[in-house]
Amino acid sequence: MAAAGTFVAAVLEATAAASGVGVNLLALDKLAHSMIRQRKAESCYIDYHPSFGASPFGKVLCTSVNDAALHGLPHDYRLRDGDVLSLDFAASVDGWVCDSALTIVVGTPRDEDLALIDTVERALEAGIAAAQPGGRMGDVSAAIGAVALADGFDVNLDFGGHGVGRTMHGDPHVPNDGRPGRGVPLREGLVFAIEPWLMLGTSKIYTDRDGWTLRSTDGSRAAHAEHTVAITADGPRVLTARGESSGGATIR
Ligand code: MG
Repeated sequence: MAAAGTFVAAVLEATAAASGVGVNLLALDKLAHSMIRQRKAESCYIDYHPSFGASPFGKVLCTSVNDAALHGLPHDYRLRDGDVLSLDFAASVDGWVCDSALTIVVGTPRDEDLALIDTVERALEAGIAAAQPGGRMGDVSAAIGAVALADGFDVNLDFGGHGVGRTMHGDPHVPNDGRPGRGVPLREGLVFAIEPWLMLGTSKIYTDRDGWTLRSTDGSRAAHAEHTVAITADGPRVLTARGESSGGATIR
């Protein structure tokens, strides 16, 4: 799984670095697809067709812009100055999956957007820190929720993290808020994605006419951060950790 994590991190770094004013979302998807072919990896998204999806996803990268929070279907759109862009990517390498996401601002950022991204990143860090062997999944959920609540956000509990393994989505569910000491025991070897996502003005979403993209009901902007984390005897191991700099964009 670590090999998949390294690959997923590299694709996110490359697509984030390639993002910029005037860049088409379809070009970012194309870049991710070429890296998949080169690595002989398999996309987890292209044939993905769950009950809530209108049709198979058909792309390899989620590109969620501004009021799009999750599952952004790449389309013919050129990024504009100040756009908030979330990139979410999952792939399988040698039969094992990792899943990760980041959010950047393209061009000149607004302060409120940087603050939003900072909150989801700190929520992710808090969730990872709480993913300790001997603990419970509620510890992770509560840590995420506490960061969101402290910064004044409402948390949407319909979509959250999930077990990761041979497939992209499995048990257990990882809600973005909860109660410490409750839920699934965190045993060594358990691997799951932690993925806080927040919107500036609401916790409610609706599905775009494209059948996939989930947008905020009030049009406010969204941010999303995700890592795949393994529970080890020494604590949490982030399998999708990225390097410090990806060039050009604001990335952490
Ligand atoms: Mg993901």
